[in-house]
Amino acid sequence: MRMDRPPSVDAVLRSPEGVDAIGRFGRGAFVEAVRAALNEWRANRVRNCDAAAITAAAVERLQASADPSLKAVFNLTGTVLHTNLGRAVLGAAAVAAANVAMQRPVTLEYDLAGGGRGERDDHVRSHLSALTGAADATAVNNNAAALLLVLNSLALGREVVVSRGELIEIGGSFRLPEIMLRAGVRLIEVGTTNRTHLADYQAAIGEATALVLKVHPSNYRIAGFTASVPVPALAALASERGIPLLYDLGSGVLTDLRRFGLPAEPTVAEAIKEGADLVTFSGDKLLGGPQAGLIAGRADLIAKINRNPLKRALRLDKVRIAALAATLAVYRDPARLHPDLPTIRLLVRSENDIRAAAVRLQPMLQAALGPGFTVAVVSCRSEIGSGALPIETIASAGLAVACNGSVSAGRILLALQAALRSLSVPVLGRISGQRLLLDLRCLEDEAAFAAVLTELGGCAGQRP
Ligand SMILES: *Cc1c(COP(=O)(O)O)cnc(C)c1O
Repeated sequence: MRMDRPPSVDAVLRSPEGVDAIGRFGRGAFVEAVRAALNEWRANRVRNCDAAAITAAAVERLQASADPSLKAVFNLTGTVLHTNLGRAVLGAAAVAAANVAMQRPVTLEYDLAGGGRGERDDHVRSHLSALTGAADATAVNNNAAALLLVLNSLALGREVVVSRGELIEIGGSFRLPEIMLRAGVRLIEVGTTNRTHLADYQAAIGEATALVLKVHPSNYRIAGFTASVPVPALAALASERGIPLLYDLGSGVLTDLRRFGLPAEPTVAEAIKEGADLVTFSGDKLLGGPQAGLIAGRADLIAKINRNPLKRALRLDKVRIAALAATLAVYRDPARLHPDLPTIRLLVRSENDIRAAAVRLQPMLQAALGPGFTVAVVSCRSEIGSGALPIETIASAGLAVACNGSVSAGRILLALQAALRSLSVPVLGRISGQRLLLDLRCLEDEAAFAAVLTELGGCAGQRP
């Protein structure tokens, strides 16, 4: 039935469908949604406007707004630590510890032995010292906060010497020169983009110098005619002049990744051993924990950092401290790292293992997409992501979807990508050449993936 005049709000509320919807969503919310649905009808008059149709439109609105914007996805992008997808996935021990901290009162700043006040850093301090060889450590919101805090605590109003080749930008909003400005320190650039020598640092260090900063070029590589000063030489110079050396490691690994067959990345322990006075690194990159910025190094410097009032503004909450402590505890027993830590587990997965999953899932994806597409099992390369090891990729496998028929294939693939994004658990892949590539490295729950594919109903994106 098509009507020219819409029902009144009251009539919709009194209709059987309306009464039912009030029961589900509450009167206030439903009335608001009915008004919006009526306005929409008046604006374009395309749908029926009986009470049932208006109720259906209102319910659709209410359901859409109840749908959380932060939801789980299948990360088949091939980037394991995807910054836009929340970087590291936490292990079971970290999840359990975070759960307790969310639901129960906890000894966040309470010393059970003495019955008095404790320090929240105590939960991670001894783990970090044991794992890095540093005398002391602290934790803040993220690595950007760690840098800000160290610079502001140790060099406010004074000079910090950095190589021009290390003035990094990470993901747009994090630019080292800007952080330094906001930290209240003066940046002294030394050397050139591709070459910096010890003599450049020697010449730049003076009365006003408070800190020498070295930055691990985590998300890029300078190749070719290059020179940079290794940590031991820089540490010797800094110590001779009585100035601390801060090494921003970025990803910061706590164990030698080569034993898992992964490319080498400097460990925090190596940096400390080589003479860095302080090392800063992220909790949610290769470390595989919650978002956090960790600072490890000399006890006197950590004490000074802890006295900075900014520390309070940048500190971690109980939930992340719980997750971080549990993640670090896994590192204390290296035999648990694989398989207990998802980041390591996903990075270590062999191409053969992933290919076997691709072979199992190929018929299901082919059936879900129908005859308009061809799904093939392919080899591909995964990236670690989050700026860690930017050049190295790891052998992986996945499913490549090609569109049968070349007319507007590009547009159809984009439509397919959008259809996959609109599933109840969105599936995120990447377009590579003329195909949509689903890298299966990070797919651990095949049954859940197969179940969500059935929502496609054999016709996704098939019609141009
Ligand atoms: C990632 C990174 C940062 C920023 O760390 P967040 O934890 O994202 O704040 C800083 N420095 C380096 C070298 C990095 O790689």
